[in-house]
Amino acid sequence: MWGPIIDGHTDYVLSLLETGRDFLVESDRGHVDLPRAQRGGLGAMFTAIFVRDEYHPNQALARTLRGVDCLLRTIKASHGAMELVRSVAQLEACLDRGIFGVILHYEGAEAIDPEFAVLRLSYQLGMRSLGLTWSRPNIFAEGVGPQDRGRGLTGLGRALVQACDELGILIDVSHLNDAGFWDVMECSTKPVVASHSNCRALCPVARNLSDEQIRALAEKGGLVGINFHVGFLRAGAERPEDVRLDDIVAHIDHIVELVGVDHVGFGSDFDGATMPAELADAAHLPRLLEALARRGYDETALRKICRENWLRVIRAVWCE
Ligand SMILES: [Zn+2]
Repeated sequence: MWGPIIDGHTDYVLSLLETGRDFLVESDRGHVDLPRAQRGGLGAMFTAIFVRDEYHPNQALARTLRGVDCLLRTIKASHGAMELVRSVAQLEACLDRGIFGVILHYEGAEAIDPEFAVLRLSYQLGMRSLGLTWSRPNIFAEGVGPQDRGRGLTGLGRALVQACDELGILIDVSHLNDAGFWDVMECSTKPVVASHSNCRALCPVARNLSDEQIRALAEKGGLVGINFHVGFLRAGAERPEDVRLDDIVAHIDHIVELVGVDHVGFGSDFDGATMPAELADAAHLPRLLEALARRGYDETALRKICRENWLRVIRAVWCE
């Protein structure tokens, strides 16, 4: 009824590297693998390469390449069931033909050098989406969290945004601090996303967005990918039982009331967060869509939330 889903943020590569499990085989560990993704109706996923603190800054590039290598080997072993998506046409073809599309995302720019050689080479590798920071400072910007000193983008950070705009790499402001967020809004010429963040009005944590920020993202043609992490849905929630599907629906409602249904999608944070009990893994996604349908979202709205809003942003930003 609503068609394939594009998920704006998942951390399964980290889980593959750290547990040794095989993405192509159904597991009872983690939140997503290919069989569970397909059962849940996922057609494509932004796949984050995340580097833990202990590898920063000196090992960031090596660890990033290790993650990319793990992902490319997984795709190769899928014998055509998965593809690394490099262009809009390829993404559309994957969704049409039921091939699982993988969009390569770096969650933090620490692997990138000040001359942007790694940025350009990463583009050649297929990287199409970049978060300037994870929740820590780097040479480009500051993340949210205890190390946030309230500074915006550095000069290099502004140059990085410009270089991404020129190459056709999507900028993701989830994890960026507020000052950096507003600097990106000012200096980016393309739609920008918060790939996995929710609403501060409903759950006041730094990783979520103020109403003002949601309006600014919408004005630039971007979107918010709704994060299923319990602690970003309901203040103080820690356990899967603390949050209901209706809490996710409430965050979507809030964005739709503020800026309309064209500026919200999903950014699950599968394999990087604590999922609600009713949405224990990717295979349970239809439950969320059914909850939205019960709430009154019609087929047109569900298609936008599942896929078309992400597709609109990608078409506007990517250069191929
Ligand atoms: Zn994250």
